[in-house]
Amino acid sequence: MDVNQPKIRGDGPEKLYFVKMPRKCCVPCCRSNYKTETTLTSTFGFPKDEELKKKWISSINRKDYLPGSTAAVCINHFDEQHIIWEDRIPQKDGSTYTIERKRPKLVDGAYPTKFPNQPHYLSEDLPKTRKSPSLRRAKEITRAENQFSEWCEADNIKSLNEIKENVAEKVKDPWQHTLKENSIFIYKIETSDCPKEMI
Ligand SMILES: [Zn+2]
Repeated sequence: MDVNQPKIRGDGPEKLYFVKMPRKCCVPCCRSNYKTETTLTSTFGFPKDEELKKKWISSINRKDYLPGSTAAVCINHFDEQHIIWEDRIPQKDGSTYTIERKRPKLVDGAYPTKFPNQPHYLSEDLPKTRKSPSLRRAKEITRAENQFSEWCEADNIKSLNEIKENVAEKVKDPWQHTLKENSIFIYKIETSDCPKEMI
């Protein structure tokens, strides 16, 4: 049975739907995945490592809290540098294949540091690190794609008349141009190889 599929009981207008509920965030003052919220937020279960689990509990400021098996902390409490959005798979030729993850995961040793709905002193600013190579590369690709589409847009010629109107300022010496009704000739007269003396 697929737990992600809605289960229907009864028929008629009163029929009930049962779906697997997303895990609510256990951080005080955070409402992620509560019924009142309209969007789903990624969550992470508590780590198995006891020391790290203690660090999570003290970080979220819930003294004596004993997280159950379904207890979770939402992604809003983790620094970007602790979240992995892509898997990098080494290839035989030495390159790396990068694939976007369906669900983010945490780096080893990650713990909650951000508590936007609580007093600022409870949050911890992690030292800035260089962005992960995969994230940096993804941002570079996006920037290059944007530049290319801007360039394409700027380079888009809508009509011959448009070229005719702008040709004088675009075509500069040593290039010359001649306008005809349905065409434009752009050319350069090369004189450097001309013989100095005609025989
Ligand atoms: Zn939360």
